[in-house]
Amino acid sequence: MTQPSIILWLRQDLRLADQAALVAAVERGAVIPLYVLDDETPCAWRIGGAQRWWLHHSLAALDSALQAKGSRLILRKGPAAQVVAQVVEEVGAAAVHAIRHYEPWWIEAERTLASKVDLVLHDGNQLAPPDTVRTGSGGFFKIYTPFWRALSAMMPPPKPQPAPKHIPAPKSWPKSDTLESWQLLPSKPNWAAEFDSFWTPGEAGAHEALEAFADRVDRYHESRNLPSEPGSSQLSPHLHFGGISPAQVWHRLDAAGAGLDTFRSELGWRDFTTGVIARARDYAAQHGRSNFDAFPWRSDGLARADLHAWQQGRTGYPIVDAGMRQLWRIGWMHNRVRMIAASFLVKHLLIDWRAGERWFWDTLVDADYGNNAVNWQWVAGTGVDSNQFGRIMAPLVQSAKFGAADYIRRWVPELAHLSDADIHDPPAPVPGYPEKLIGHREARERALAAARAIR
Ligand SMILES: Cc1cc2nc3c(=O)[nH]c(=O)nc-3n(C[C@H](O)[C@H](O)[C@H](O)COP(=O)(O)OP(=O)(O)OC[C@H]3O[C@@H](n4cnc5c(N)ncnc54)[C@H](O)[C@@H]3O)c2cc1C
Repeated sequence: MTQPSIILWLRQDLRLADQAALVAAVERGAVIPLYVLDDETPCAWRIGGAQRWWLHHSLAALDSALQAKGSRLILRKGPAAQVVAQVVEEVGAAAVHAIRHYEPWWIEAERTLASKVDLVLHDGNQLAPPDTVRTGSGGFFKIYTPFWRALSAMMPPPKPQPAPKHIPAPKSWPKSDTLESWQLLPSKPNWAAEFDSFWTPGEAGAHEALEAFADRVDRYHESRNLPSEPGSSQLSPHLHFGGISPAQVWHRLDAAGAGLDTFRSELGWRDFTTGVIARARDYAAQHGRSNFDAFPWRSDGLARADLHAWQQGRTGYPIVDAGMRQLWRIGWMHNRVRMIAASFLVKHLLIDWRAGERWFWDTLVDADYGNNAVNWQWVAGTGVDSNQFGRIMAPLVQSAKFGAADYIRRWVPELAHLSDADIHDPPAPVPGYPEKLIGHREARERALAAARAIR
C-alpha cells in the first residue's frame, strides 16, 4: 500500500533534530519538506536584508542534511497559506505538520491554512508554550522577573528528540524553485562579505556555536556585559531560524553555577517576548504605553540627517559608532551596545524607536519580531515592561564601565591609536572622526523636557 504524503511546513525551525513536526510526519507517511518564501503575508516585516543571507545558507545546509537522509527540500514562493494549500492539492497530501509560530502574520496564516487543510501544529521553538506560563490567578505576566520565576519552575523543557535516521520519500516530488533563483545573497555591492568569516548558518553551525559556548558559559555572568570579550553565546540567529531549539541549548549546558543560571534567565527572555507579541500583535508598531502616542519625536530634516549618522556609525560617540559599524559589518551587535545605541537614538537624538526597529530589522541576522520590538520598547521606556523614559543612559560612562576600549579599536579604526583612558571620549578632534551630534548634558535636558510634554 502506498504511504500517504505528509507536508512538513518549515519556517523558523530549520533543523532535523528536536523537530516535533518532522517526527510526527515521519510516523505518518512519506514526508515532503516544504519551505515557502513569503514576502507578502508579513507586510512590513518581510525578511530583512541580512537575514536573507542567513536564510540562503540555512536552506542550503538543510537541503544537504535532508538529502543525506533520503529526502530533499521543496522551495516555493508566495503567500504561505495559499502556497502550502496548493502543494497539498498537487500531491494529494493527507495533512500538514508544522511547528507553531507566534508572529502575528504566522498566526493568521496558520488560521487560514487550517480552514483549508488538516494542519497539525506542534510546540518546539520555546522553552514552554507561551499560554502555559500564567500568574497564580491564571493571567499573563507583564513583568519579566515574575515571568521568569514561573517559567523556571516549569523547567527543564522536554528532552530533545533525535533526528530521524531515515526520512521516507514520496514516489514523486512536486516541483521546486531553485535556491539561486530567489537571489537571497547580496551581490552589487556584496555588503555581507564579512558575514562568511563570522557565521556558519544551519544546524551543524548552531551546534558548533553551542559547543564553543559550553567552554565559556561558567563566566557568562561576568563577561556577557563586556563587549571586548567573546562572552555571550552568539546563538541568537541560530535560535531565530531554529537551527537549534532552546530545549537543545538548555539540556546541553547542564553544569550548575552562576554563569549558567544567568544564561538561562537570558534565554527565558525569548519566551517572554513571544508571549508579549502573541497577545499584543502590533507591538512592533504601537507604543505599549499609549501616552507616548503624543510624544514629540523629532522628524524634520535635521533629525533625518541624525538618523543617517546613527545608521552609518558617525555620531561622534565611539561606543555607539562601534556598535552600529559592528552591526553593518557582521549583522550582529553585542547586547550591552544594542542597549546603548538604541537608547542614544531614542533619548539623545529624540528619534522614534520605530525608526531604530526598522533599521535593526533590515541589518540584524537575528532580527526577531518579538525580541526586537520588546527590547526597543524596553529601552525607549514606551513598553509594558520598561525602563522609565527619564532614566537616560550615559554612553561615555557605560563605555568605560564595561571596558569597551578594544571593542572600539576593532570597529572604529580611526580611534585605534587612542589610549584606554581617551578612547571612550576623545579629548581632541581626531581626523576623519566626526564631532558629537549633540553633547550629553544638552541631549539629556532636551529628552527630559520632551518627556514632561506628555505627563
Ligand atoms: C534594541 C534591542 C534590539 C534587540 N533585537 C533583537 C532581535 O531582533 N533578535 C534577538 O534575538 N535579540 C534581540 N535583542 C536582544 C539581545 O541583544 C540579543 O538576543 C543578544 O545580543 C544575542 O546575542 P547572544 O546570542 O550572544 O545572546 P546571549 O546573551 O548568549 O543569550 C542567549 C539567547 O537568549 C536570548 N536573549 C538574550 N537576551 C535577550 C533579550 N534581551 N531579549 C530577548 N532574547 C534574549 C537570545 O535568543 C540569545 O541568543 C535586542 C536587544 C536590544 C537592546
